[in-house]
Amino acid sequence: IISLNKPYFPTLHIKTMPQYSSKNVAVIGAGSAGLVTARELQREGHNVVVFERENQVGGTWVYTPDTESDPVGTDPTREIVHSSLYSSLRVNLPREVMGFRDYPFVVKKRPGSDPRRYPGHREVLDYLNDFAVEFGINGVVRFGVEVGYVGKMENGKWKVSSRKRKNDDGVFSNEEEYDAVVICNGHYTEPRIADIPGIEVWPGKQIHSHNYRVPDPFRDQAVLLIGGAASATDISREIAEVAKEVHISSRSATSGVPMKLPGYDNVWLHNMIEAVGSDGSVSFRDGSKILADIILHCTGYKYHFPFLETNGIVTVDDNRVGPLYKHVFPPAFAPSLSFVGLPWKVIPFFLCELQSKWIAAVLSGRVSLLSKEDMNADIEAFYSSMTASCIPKRYTHNMNDYQFDYDDWLAAECGSAPSEEWRKQMYFISRQNKKTLSETYRDEWDDNDLIIQAYEDFVKYIP
Ligand code: FAD
Repeated sequence: IISLNKPYFPTLHIKTMPQYSSKNVAVIGAGSAGLVTARELQREGHNVVVFERENQVGGTWVYTPDTESDPVGTDPTREIVHSSLYSSLRVNLPREVMGFRDYPFVVKKRPGSDPRRYPGHREVLDYLNDFAVEFGINGVVRFGVEVGYVGKMENGKWKVSSRKRKNDDGVFSNEEEYDAVVICNGHYTEPRIADIPGIEVWPGKQIHSHNYRVPDPFRDQAVLLIGGAASATDISREIAEVAKEVHISSRSATSGVPMKLPGYDNVWLHNMIEAVGSDGSVSFRDGSKILADIILHCTGYKYHFPFLETNGIVTVDDNRVGPLYKHVFPPAFAPSLSFVGLPWKVIPFFLCELQSKWIAAVLSGRVSLLSKEDMNADIEAFYSSMTASCIPKRYTHNMNDYQFDYDDWLAAECGSAPSEEWRKQMYFISRQNKKTLSETYRDEWDDNDLIIQAYEDFVKYIP
């Protein structure tokens, strides 16, 4: 079914005559996507300003113990805490796979470095800081500056309004014009909450994993954790060490439930929730019923672009950002508006590196895009194939099965080499290990041959 979801990849359109032009480009966000975008734009000869509302680069990878005032994140007036990292988080991809292609994520000898193959989050932040220094990105980042408005003007340029985040008069008074805007604002900040029948009368506490940092608040509690993705797995195991009971409700748990999780005395797996009651009860579709003190929603995030004004041309509909050609360009505004980093179930840094190379080359005119009509036809074909395969809109940017086809298409489009064979194999092996060795996959592996191949490649880039 998923293979029908593969978008149709038309043929290459690389111009032969050099007619390159340099643009003034605003990049929103200095996480991994914004950093690599700034680098690729600069390499292509564009003038770049990166807007970053925090005081440092790294985005998601800037861990903070702070949480938001509304633990489920539905109050639109809450002060946003960007990162969703929890204290114990270790990466879920091998570091060889995870890094940018020409700036590999290798172990650097320095005090406090974390040489593990699946290091803790601090190591990733250090890596991104090194990247920013290496490619001189910090000099073009406006730190502590939040973008509040992006909209197209009559003269064809983009208005970008921003403010110093700490000057809290709430007005985005600094207005500027840019030839193009690249949106790299991340998509793991705005919580998505499951609809639960009866939740209005359920008396317990609720929190979204965006606001989960450490297990302590769950001590001696009966916890209902909703979700089945990577964070849900990590957090449920961590909470089980202190909680009275942990009940995991997962859409994918279809047979044999309810069941005790092997290796645990106090963790149970259930399928979906039927309803919750005013007595604190939770009933599941598998027929079981429990009492819970806290619901922990590990139910993912929503794409959110509160600053973007396109008169309804670009929308977020059931977590589909669209219409977008190849998840990057809205045809009506291409190439002056683009998005980097929307796809999920992917290797994010590598994919963003290729997306941003493509954007930079299209903006300079080195690579041309299809006509608006052809881009729209491509998008329509993609959406129709999803509908025909009964794939919900919210999976539009899920590239589980075709990310490497997509990466290689991008690479071909801008004249880069396709994904390395070792990267593909390592990714699939690590994904399989995560399923079969969910407790230990970060510390047990048998693909040392691929690690050797990766390092044979890395010597090209490491001085
Ligand atoms: P972000 O890192 O979120 O950066 C966006 C930036 O935009 C932020 O700095 C933010 O402050 C800024 N910004 C937002 N709005 C504005 C505005 N209006 N004005 C100015 N600035 C703004 N990926 C992996 O490769 N490996 C992993 O192991 C892994 N684990 C993860 C675990 C968790 C819990 C989460 C949430 C994500 C994980 N990811 C992992 C995915 C990770 O998010 C991506 O790898 C990547 O860091 C995303 O980068 P980004 O630049 O797209 O977004």
